[in-house]
Amino acid sequence: MTVQTNPIGILALQGDYFEHGRVLKKLGHKFIYVKTPEELIQVESLILPGGESTTMRKLAKQNKLWDRLKKFKGPMLGTCAGIILMAKEITGPSEEGLGLLDVTIARNAYGSQINSFTDMGQYIQKKKNIEMVFIRAPQITRIGERCEVIAEYKGQPVGVQQGNLIGLTFHPEISRNYDLIERFLSLK
Ligand code: GLN
Repeated sequence: MTVQTNPIGILALQGDYFEHGRVLKKLGHKFIYVKTPEELIQVESLILPGGESTTMRKLAKQNKLWDRLKKFKGPMLGTCAGIILMAKEITGPSEEGLGLLDVTIARNAYGSQINSFTDMGQYIQKKKNIEMVFIRAPQITRIGERCEVIAEYKGQPVGVQQGNLIGLTFHPEISRNYDLIERFLSLK
């Protein structure tokens, strides 16, 4: 295991932040839940969980975190609503993203709650089939030049990496496979 000085942060305004905490604990990593700017400056990497991106954006603005998140320089992992918040462009309907990850993301692109599903997809770099849980998931409809596709489902990109940023449209934290969370944990 790598030696860590600062804990990993998990944005804990809304959504399934507790599930991310459970996984980090299981993998033996120190973390704190982030709700305030004071907590944000204590962490060197950050997870934006799944949930409801509209609510998270609203709460992040209320808690004076939104502009600080735009300037966050450490490794970041966004799962589902998390990748929506990280995106440069959001459609369905158009909303403000943090502008960190150079993708366009279409919200609720598979349909509503009843169109949520679990299936096997591919972790490209490992040439490995992994379980993917999609819950009112978005779709990546444009990928910037600096982004590398790291996960695919039925030939469509569902995970991208741009430098130390990873965005996934699904929920690794509630699947039985943590490979992509470990990929994030190894980022500098
Ligand atoms: N549909 C949600 C949104 O638009 C994302 C769902 C999720 O995070 N599971 O924010």
